[in-house]
Amino acid sequence: MDNKQITVTAPLLPGLEEFNTMLKEIWDSKWITNNGQFHKQLETELCKYLKVPYISLFTNGTLPLITALQALRITGEVITTPYSFVATTHALWWNGIKPVFVDIEESTCGIDPDAIEAAITPKTTAIMPVHCYGKPCNTKRIQEIADKYGLRVIYDAAHAFGVEVNGESVLNAGDISTLSFHATKVYNTIEGGAMVVHDAETKKRIDYLKNFGFADETIVVAPGINGKMDEMRSAFGLLNLHQVDDAIAARQKVAQFYRKELRNVPGVRFFDDMPGVRHNYSYFPIFINAQEFGMTRDELYFKMRDNNVLGRRYFYPLISTFSTYRGLPSANPENLPVATRIANEVICLPMHHELTQQDLERVINCITYK
Ligand SMILES: *Cc1c(COP(=O)(O)O)cnc(C)c1O
Repeated sequence: MDNKQITVTAPLLPGLEEFNTMLKEIWDSKWITNNGQFHKQLETELCKYLKVPYISLFTNGTLPLITALQALRITGEVITTPYSFVATTHALWWNGIKPVFVDIEESTCGIDPDAIEAAITPKTTAIMPVHCYGKPCNTKRIQEIADKYGLRVIYDAAHAFGVEVNGESVLNAGDISTLSFHATKVYNTIEGGAMVVHDAETKKRIDYLKNFGFADETIVVAPGINGKMDEMRSAFGLLNLHQVDDAIAARQKVAQFYRKELRNVPGVRFFDDMPGVRHNYSYFPIFINAQEFGMTRDELYFKMRDNNVLGRRYFYPLISTFSTYRGLPSANPENLPVATRIANEVICLPMHHELTQQDLERVINCITYK
């Protein structure tokens, strides 16, 4: 039997010939970075595709997080989720900001709005939620709390490329949203990322900040960083943008199959689509109740590995358990009961645009034959 490795994701790759044609153009122009032609074109096309007013491209998804905090001059304490990729909290740490972890909601794995208010202190300046797995946070509730206490909201929207609620981009919520275009994400530019902002002035300031703070040849307005995206990856990104809808449609079919096959398996929980939401099917997490399933999450995870089916335990361990953060009062597991439990239940099943029917059946067989 075919036992090839099934990975949790596969990078969306443009056609090599098309990419070569664009590379030839770059070579001819001799303009390889610093807001070149393809960079400009990608910003324009992304604004249109994502239905957002302004976007600023970055060289990865971590720098826009770090830069957003700089741009809004966030200091003191920021309320955030421990159930994410480490970059979310690292971005705070790199700005000398104290992360304050609050628990998540079981229904979305996003930050629990009910827990936010209790964590606010006079030092709190912002909230940094994550649209985990691309499932939209309760942006309305979060904004109400932010408005009541005069806080900024920066969304780590690394998972939420193309996600819409009632026809509106989820990226328009809060003060700033950031995206990652890393190879493992739904949409990639190899490495890459972006920041979504609401007005031209902020976009201008972000563009200075990602280019060392240069406003023109001789004027440096702030201690900026180098976060610029180059022409090669902008071209790669343009080609991928033209096929990302097909990739999302293929992922949706995978999700539909998994749901059909797992619907009646005791001890296996998963998410259904949310009403009014355009999902991007970036991940397919399942949550194992060991008692009902008859096997622990880790037993299943390693059994899958033995069968060359590579799920991933996103997000385990919680960020709050890493050595940098575990001494913080808010990192106490008693403060984070839902996140702590879910981190021990989750496996993200293989989810990408190239999975075959045979692949999918192998994944399901690992789960259903015990
Ligand atoms: C991938 C990811 C990032 C970091 O993006 P990079 O492009 O790898 O720097 C940040 N936050 C979340 C939630 C992510 O999944």
